[in-house]
Amino acid sequence: QFHPTALHPGAPGHPHKCEPSSPSHPNRAAPRLLLSEALRGHGALLRDAEGERFVDELAPRDLISRAMVERMVTQGTDHLWLDATGLVHFAERFPAIAGALSATGLDPASDWLPIAPAAHYLSGGVVTDLDGATSLPGLWACGEVACTGVHGANRLASNSLLEGLVFGGRVVDAIAAGRLGALPTGAMRAVVGAPSGIAGASVSASAGDAPVGMSSALALPPTSDIPVLRSSLQGAMTNLAGVVRDAKALAVATEVVDEVRISLGSPKDRSSWELLNLVSVAGALLVSAAARTETRGSHTRSDFPTRDPALLIRLVHGGHPQN
Ligand SMILES: Cc1cc2nc3c(=O)[nH]c(=O)nc-3n(C[C@H](O)[C@H](O)[C@H](O)COP(=O)(O)OP(=O)(O)OC[C@H]3O[C@@H](n4cnc5c(N)ncnc54)[C@H](O)[C@@H]3O)c2cc1C
Repeated sequence: QFHPTALHPGAPGHPHKCEPSSPSHPNRAAPRLLLSEALRGHGALLRDAEGERFVDELAPRDLISRAMVERMVTQGTDHLWLDATGLVHFAERFPAIAGALSATGLDPASDWLPIAPAAHYLSGGVVTDLDGATSLPGLWACGEVACTGVHGANRLASNSLLEGLVFGGRVVDAIAAGRLGALPTGAMRAVVGAPSGIAGASVSASAGDAPVGMSSALALPPTSDIPVLRSSLQGAMTNLAGVVRDAKALAVATEVVDEVRISLGSPKDRSSWELLNLVSVAGALLVSAAARTETRGSHTRSDFPTRDPALLIRLVHGGHPQN
């Protein structure tokens, strides 16, 4: 799931003017400050590079993120604006955000705030039954790592902490009651591998097929430099497997992930092990994204924009992501 209004690092402080942010900005790869959606609830406006409003600010996260990405591609910019200049008592209502903005030199009373969608929550993960039992006896999961089935097409804000509380307790109760594995409640109903007829998983493409404006993410120089490889991986996943994706973009991203895996070689230290973990997660995400040829929420398959009733299932992929 993508949060629509993460503060965009490296964007110039100049208000009301979209200039490209510096790719070498030191905070570019750091976690981004989230500008709470409560700001829009209190009247903050979304503005494009021309300063125009372009979407209902009270729409769900996925619709706003999609509208933003489409506008960013059209206007050739890597960020848009959150205009909170009309909010009164900003510092009293949002003291933490006000403090963080002040530290970056932005004044929400006069500056439009540079924003872009950011990966925020992993919807999906290890499939469990309603007590956190997985298909592997003895392995229990709850929290963000688990796919319990409680989130709909768009995880509602603050439901993840509730999920952790509720399912953590259920796991403990089930283990204490002597349960050894999952119950046949139907929650574990799944399909192993991509069903025949599901398109997309085997599509191959070259960098030339990447969506317009996204090919810069694919320039992977021959290097074993971990930060460079990590940055290439992040760029490819953000631009090609992010808010809006299609089969070709996913195939190109898969090629980048493969290249990073090969360039990485055998991990030697913490940073290379972390990168290998990122490569593994990225590969699994790409296999899943290629198989789900529909749009149900959170993100959008531009080549399959509507829901497919045949995919009202959980897809479970066995084996190595490359298989
Ligand atoms: C910026 C931000 C704001 C958010 N705001 C909200 C909000 O307002 N409301 C809300 O409900 N949710 C919010 N979320 C989501 C929510 O915080 C997370 O979904 C939730 O904290 C996940 O909890 P968890 O215990 O499942 O996982 P985590 O909190 O990620 O805990 C997993 C732990 O496992 C450890 N770990 C990982 N690998 C290993 C290993 N191999 N061995 C041992 N330990 C390991 C990690 O170090 C970590 O401590 C927000 C998330 C972010 C990033």
